[in-house]
Amino acid sequence: MAKVTFNEESCKGCGLCVEACPKGILRLAPVRINLKGYHPAECADMNACIGCASCARMCPDVVITVEK
Ligand code: SF4
Ligand code: SF4
Repeated sequence: MAKVTFNEESCKGCGLCVEACPKGILRLAPVRINLKGYHPAECADMNACIGCASCARMCPDVVITVEK
């Protein structure tokens, strides 16, 4: 099973990874904010992740790590 982790404090909440995910399982945290004041990206359903790494490639700030 694939696993996606976020270096949350580096996230600027741009949403590019959310758009890039073919499974539609990424979102910006609805309530939580990071130290920069942004709603960080998170995975809503890790079991559905196929480990394609589209999200990691899309992120301009190298926030995301995908492990298979
Ligand atoms: S690795 Fe692929 S399926 Fe998994 S969260 Fe990233 S874009 Fe979505
Ligand atoms: S693309 Fe990167 S910086 Fe933008 S919301 Fe996703 S994890 Fe955060």
